[in-house]
Amino acid sequence: MRLIQGAASHVGLVRKQNEDSFVAGNGLYAVCDGMGGARAGEVASETACRTLLTERPTGEEDLRRSVDLANRAIVRQGISDPHLFGMGTTMTAAVGREGGLLFAHIGDSRAYLLHEGALRQVTEDHSLVGELMRRGQLTPEEAAAHPHRSVITRALGTEPDVRPDVFALDLEPGDRVLFCSDGLSGMVADEELGRVLGESDDPQAVADALVQAALAGGGEDNITVVVVMAVEEGDDADQATGVLAGGSMGGVTAFGPEDRTAEARGSVRGMRIRRGLGHLRRRVVILSVSAVLVLVLLGAAGLALLNSSVYFVGTYEGKVALYQGMPYTVLGRQLYQVVEVAPTEYGTLDGYVRGRVDAREVTTKEAGQRFIRGLAPGP
Ligand code: MG
Repeated sequence: MRLIQGAASHVGLVRKQNEDSFVAGNGLYAVCDGMGGARAGEVASETACRTLLTERPTGEEDLRRSVDLANRAIVRQGISDPHLFGMGTTMTAAVGREGGLLFAHIGDSRAYLLHEGALRQVTEDHSLVGELMRRGQLTPEEAAAHPHRSVITRALGTEPDVRPDVFALDLEPGDRVLFCSDGLSGMVADEELGRVLGESDDPQAVADALVQAALAGGGEDNITVVVVMAVEEGDDADQATGVLAGGSMGGVTAFGPEDRTAEARGSVRGMRIRRGLGHLRRRVVILSVSAVLVLVLLGAAGLALLNSSVYFVGTYEGKVALYQGMPYTVLGRQLYQVVEVAPTEYGTLDGYVRGRVDAREVTTKEAGQRFIRGLAPGP
């Protein structure tokens, strides 16, 4: 049994830039869907694919190490270049092994197996709706229309430690495997995917037909497809490896896309554009990551500011005192300091006034000063 493949990537009908990347050939297959502001997404997805190309993993250990290296390379670039901060990518990758494929998968790009006419998704979506579906809280139909369907829960580049799903898939001659970004799976129903995947024996023709199906479905996102076919050893596959737009795939590993711009829409430019939530989708994860950081920073700054402008009355060495800050200790750190000590002994206060001191109510500097200066002096 041998594996032959085709691949295609398209910017789609809405996006200006193609942020997906792919690798296909010589026993190495991957689709990566990058995300991040400006062009950070394409840097992330391309870094992931290039790492696979450089590392050429073959076994499980290599594959895990390659994913880890890709993750660290993306994290490192994101830290060193503010334009790339927060970027990330999905990765659905596989290497050829005896009798099938070994996968590493993270994010919401997908792999499907077409076996004896039946299509089955072999990856789990690491997405909010994916998790909700697995818990039985959403039906597939609800998930497909969910406003937060693009929120992904795992990606490369967003955390120091990466947890890909690693699993083997056995293949028989005749089996077909589809790797795709959500620009395909979000635009084309599974039944249609299965139908097109089984249509031709030429993997490149199938890859191209799948892209066309996604465009016909709206083309709201970048579309990237790698099609792998398991064939008997004797089958002539030199033609079947096909030709990738812009470069020959025969015997070499295809890496793409070659042209990431919207101008690459070429002949499909005249197609109907259906604007939807699609163009906003990928931003969601990035927003959530950076929003959390911003909130944490704002929270810390706000706390410090608030803390310097509030006061409370308490006791200091037996006397009534005015404190700046809030009457709390957080992680062993006092959030307050004494600013004025009255000559009044706490022990001489009457019950009502003592109660007000005990309450440690937060107040203004002026009100606090009025309060402690208005107390009767001690004996
Ligand atoms: Mg996408």
